[in-house]
Amino acid sequence: MAKNNYQAPTGMHDLFQGELDQMARIEQMAKRVADFYGFEKIATPILEFSEIFEKGTGAFTDIVEKEMYTFKTKGGDILTLRPEITPGVVRAYNQHGMQNLPKPVRFWYLGPCFRHERPQAGRYRQFNQLGFESLGAEHPIIDAITILVFYSLLKSLGFKKLAVQINCIGDSQCRGGFKKALSSYLRSKTSSLCVQCRVRQKKNPLRVLDCKEEKCEAIKKNAPQILDHLCKDCSDHFKGLLEFLEELEIPYNVNPYLVRGLDYYTRTVFEISEDTEDGKAQGSLAGGGRYDGLVKLLGGKDTPACGGAMGIERVINLIKARTKEQPPKEPTCEVYLTQVGELAKRKALKLFEQLRQANIKVAEGLHKESLSAQLKQADKMKVKYSIIIGQKEALDKQVIIREMKNGRQKIVDMDKVVRELKGKI
Ligand code: AMP
Repeated sequence: MAKNNYQAPTGMHDLFQGELDQMARIEQMAKRVADFYGFEKIATPILEFSEIFEKGTGAFTDIVEKEMYTFKTKGGDILTLRPEITPGVVRAYNQHGMQNLPKPVRFWYLGPCFRHERPQAGRYRQFNQLGFESLGAEHPIIDAITILVFYSLLKSLGFKKLAVQINCIGDSQCRGGFKKALSSYLRSKTSSLCVQCRVRQKKNPLRVLDCKEEKCEAIKKNAPQILDHLCKDCSDHFKGLLEFLEELEIPYNVNPYLVRGLDYYTRTVFEISEDTEDGKAQGSLAGGGRYDGLVKLLGGKDTPACGGAMGIERVINLIKARTKEQPPKEPTCEVYLTQVGELAKRKALKLFEQLRQANIKVAEGLHKESLSAQLKQADKMKVKYSIIIGQKEALDKQVIIREMKNGRQKIVDMDKVVRELKGKI
């Protein structure tokens, strides 16, 4: 690669130009929801032992088979850049003996994940997930609250056409029977499946159900459905959850083909997307489900659990597309600080800090020399007032406050500027 022509790694992006502000806003709103519902924030390491994903996420999933960034450390450990955060949260739950805490133990998180996927719209190799997890409770009201927190967070972020898809994929009691029925059906259609699904059919037949290839879509239509194979406990759980969703007036669609790409799910799986052209191109905004076996699988006690994660970049992409259609925002600053000459620069710097302490948002051209260039910039920013400090004003310990819309000017003592401006804005 030519010098000075370095690019970020494929599928990885720099976040800037308001994207980090958006992310902070989403985080702030998530915190509000989390505080209300009693989720505590957790930050787990970006690297974990590979085994927790191999065992947890599942050896035969696309993530583990094809997408993990795994390496051997100098000390000989095999570590992976986390492709998702749930297994890390469960590892932390087990490691810190949290099974003794009052149930459910609730966590939320926000942080980067890494998957070596084929980059496309809304699909990156580094992206941020914001998730909510509840550990230690089996009742379907927990599943309903999980869906509710994502749904209400997305609503408060301005999404108006949210579509919730939901399914129940059974548990260890009933899924075996369904897998058998599905496998035997798929065996009779092997030659018509796409190449990937011929492999999936043997290793993980449920995954054939969420294949989007046209060939497989046709085969899926006549496949046995998990909802007809649920045991009584799973069926009651699912009914209970749907009743809660109806009570909460969260519109949903039961999608018998929704299985999701991770192995640890039991019973409930869900996805939330925005029903727009852009939304379709991006895929789901959030997804999750129940994972009653994961805590035990990773060495803990038998512990039911439920959670999900939202993709921050996808949310930001859709917010950006939406705001592009809206008129430009009002100026964020109402005051612009200008100066001419070295003494004025020093006085302006001091005043700038005083204004910050008084919580008055001010734009400045402290590095600039020409007054007209600074006033031009102030005009462009559509501020209401400019403060002008020239050589004379600096010596007299005064400033000029100029009202931009009519050019009216007033001389004010430097130590009274903050009070004067507070009265005006
Ligand atoms: P998952 O962990 O696969 O259940 O995904 C949960 C959410 O994370 C999805 O609904 C997406 O919003 C987001 N997500 C998953 N994979 C990616 C990716 N490669 N790039 C961007 N966002 C992603």
